[in-house]
Amino acid sequence: MQIKVLGWAGGIGANLRTTSFLIDDDLLIDAGTGLGDLPLNHMTGIRHIFLTHSHMDHVVGLPLLADSMFGVHDEPIVVHAQEKTINALKAHIFNWVIWPDFSELPTRDNPSIQFEVMNPGDKISIRSREIEMIQVNHTVPGVGYCLSSRRANVAFSGDTTTNDTLWEVLDRYENIDLLFVEAAFSNNDIEISKISKHYCPRLLGDDILKMKHRPDIWLTHFKPGDEELIYQECVDAMPDFDVHQLKGGEVFKF
Ligand SMILES: [Zn+2]
Ligand SMILES: [Zn+2]
Repeated sequence: MQIKVLGWAGGIGANLRTTSFLIDDDLLIDAGTGLGDLPLNHMTGIRHIFLTHSHMDHVVGLPLLADSMFGVHDEPIVVHAQEKTINALKAHIFNWVIWPDFSELPTRDNPSIQFEVMNPGDKISIRSREIEMIQVNHTVPGVGYCLSSRRANVAFSGDTTTNDTLWEVLDRYENIDLLFVEAAFSNNDIEISKISKHYCPRLLGDDILKMKHRPDIWLTHFKPGDEELIYQECVDAMPDFDVHQLKGGEVFKF
């Protein structure tokens, strides 16, 4: 199994891309601006997209991907998400005003993309990889995922603040090898973190001790401009962990 980091940042700017992870050549977790860097012939390989929530920094690439892939495949690209996330996308993006509804194009019977409701606790197996959806705690219905192959279990927090659900579910796994987890703001912005339901290093450092595992930590979603401060505060807040900062383009092989 291979994971390529296409997008990792909390915003845009030169060399900054928002959340998107490519699993092998066919699965995508979130469709942030990082998706746009993939060459077209790699985009055609994407057959399943797993969304964490409806916020723009995680879905902006989806309508554009649907357009770029229009007419390329005989089978639709399957978009897995919670029902409320799908409803939000249909109401606010694929509504024929912001963008055409590619779940009805070119026809309802044979669309470009197909939305599939997935609920926390559901597990889907695709070509010897299993992916479990896990409830987290964000301002809109949000989830993380745990991705498993024979060799490794890799967790993605999605956007979240303090919660019990992610850590409880991860503790059911025998081991977690790697955790991609968000830390959107510095400790100076702890009140903003609470209001916007993100982690800052202090909240994350307190929460992560709920988990028995000690995976490698790779941090995402830093507020642009505060990267060095947030990273250093995370290192200080999680002394029991190997803590790394994503910078984009990393490839993890298991
Ligand atoms: Zn969000
Ligand atoms: Zn986000």
